[in-house]
Amino acid sequence: MTTRRKFLQLGAVASMASLSKVFGKPARPVSKPVVISTWNFGADANKEAWKILSANGRALDAVEAGARVPEGDPKESSVGLGGLPDRDGRVTLDSCIMDEFANCGAVACLEHIVHPVSVARKVMEKTPHVFLVGAGALKFALDQGFKKENLLTKESEKAWKEWLKTAKYKPVANIENHDTIGIVAVDASQNLSGACTTSGMAYKMQGRVGDSPIIGAALFVDNEVGAATSTGVGEEVIRIVGSHLVVELMRQGNSPQQACELAVGRIVKNQPQKSKEIQVGFLALNKNGEYGAFALQKGFTYAVYSNEVPNKIFEAKSYY
Ligand code: ASP
Repeated sequence: MTTRRKFLQLGAVASMASLSKVFGKPARPVSKPVVISTWNFGADANKEAWKILSANGRALDAVEAGARVPEGDPKESSVGLGGLPDRDGRVTLDSCIMDEFANCGAVACLEHIVHPVSVARKVMEKTPHVFLVGAGALKFALDQGFKKENLLTKESEKAWKEWLKTAKYKPVANIENHDTIGIVAVDASQNLSGACTTSGMAYKMQGRVGDSPIIGAALFVDNEVGAATSTGVGEEVIRIVGSHLVVELMRQGNSPQQACELAVGRIVKNQPQKSKEIQVGFLALNKNGEYGAFALQKGFTYAVYSNEVPNKIFEAKSYY
């Protein structure tokens, strides 16, 4: 077993390739299709995705359908409708989607639309662009026929007003003031896709965008290799372009589990102190249906749906 201290020492001297031999066991190959997604609410998302995957549908359709589940649930206070607002009381949503052809679409700081993942898909399919933000993203969504709605539920408004009494901003690991659904799938034709959607860190500054809508940060898909997604404090994921890193580590021969561990290790190396207080978790899936998960802290759960694993929730191993 490699201790954490040894890992840090190794990190200073060894290349990523040699580090990759130290960690994790390769995951068991499973038959396709497979869908994996972040946190406990991933199980409901997977169920919807599985309807499409088990009927030989496309991974892209499956991940969109899955991501829409927590988006539409007013009781989920970290995604879509009912998401906790920024410090000015505005619910602003971030989302992205990516398919097997490296097509991708994203929206950030989008208000009033329950399903930002579907707007992101429209950006991908109907515009020459990848990323629309703020008022432009809303205008585009309305032009595409999405309905303008109030996303701030009574419960989220109450929580925000309570927060205003002290207005202290400190991301806390594994509590409901942040959490994102990241969902990646490989379909029966062995094609990969992924989606990611969130209301971001509760009580963030107006205009703050996290990792979730950023292709390469919270989501990356390379159909030759695999797909990865992330959750947690987005600023730390952006700094290492986390999901792209995970996919590239798999390309170098690491298992999905090893790739997630190495990416988390990179955050620890960059931010040895801060990494003790925050949560970041990665999920990875390769083209063969092998998957892995790893987080900074205990408590990061994820859901897997495959023929062998009929929608189970697991807790990821963690660095601390
Ligand atoms: N990654 C999200 C963000 O930074 C939040 C989360 O997943 O908890 O906006």
